Amino acid sequence: MKRPDGRNVDELRKIEAKAGIIKRADGSASFKIGNTIAYAAVYGPRNLYPRFLQNPEKGILRCNYNMMPFSGSGERIRPGSSRRSKEISLVTEKALLPVINLGEFPNSVIDIFIEFPQTDAGSRCAGICAASIALAEAGVPMKELVAAVAVGIVNGEVVVDLSKEEEDMDGAVDIPIAITTKSNNISLLQMDGMIKQEDIKKAIELGKKASQKIFELQKKAIKDKYNV
Ligand code: ADP
Repeated sequence: MKRPDGRNVDELRKIEAKAGIIKRADGSASFKIGNTIAYAAVYGPRNLYPRFLQNPEKGILRCNYNMMPFSGSGERIRPGSSRRSKEISLVTEKALLPVINLGEFPNSVIDIFIEFPQTDAGSRCAGICAASIALAEAGVPMKELVAAVAVGIVNGEVVVDLSKEEEDMDGAVDIPIAITTKSNNISLLQMDGMIKQEDIKKAIELGKKASQKIFELQKKAIKDKYNV
């Protein structure tokens, strides 16, 4: 089956990843997948204020997901926080936490700001991919990277990296997943739609394979930054 944009079922959209794009930040990255563009900027580890939020045992990770007002499909997106952006910020934190050792940073915070000038589905996954590169560039000790991609069902077939057009099709199922790149653990799995048990297994396998391709591009972005 060919997909609306001509891709094969296991084919990702074109990806471009870059580290070190925001010089003022401690770490930063862009991650473009098709028409979805994510920028991530990391500040910290730095002292956490107000002080009563500090934990002397370990630091905290704080993610902020934000779609820019013009980043949807034409209608202005109301600036500021929404239920959706709060949820995505939270799941982004949870997807990244397993690879970071916050025990090394008592009383501290690592802030990650993730902004989207343009989206065409898969934005939470693109944000996680960008944030993971930015954390590495910031020098935050990480056990491994995190790669993320949406998998799901389009026209009854298991596919990887759904576009907005595909996500909006009747019967489509959208499953964003994040995979830790060495131990191959799942650190995010959400689902929108109904899927058969055998299909979800197939979809996760497809996602794991795709995440290895993404991992290679994330690694390349970091290496390119340091010319190694
Ligand atoms: P994800 O981007 O992670 O796939 P969703 O499934 O919630 O998350 O959204 C799919 C796509 O729908 C987004 O990438 C974006 O293009 C579009 N979208 C989501 N929320 C809005 C909004 N408030 N206004 C316009 N477009 C939106």
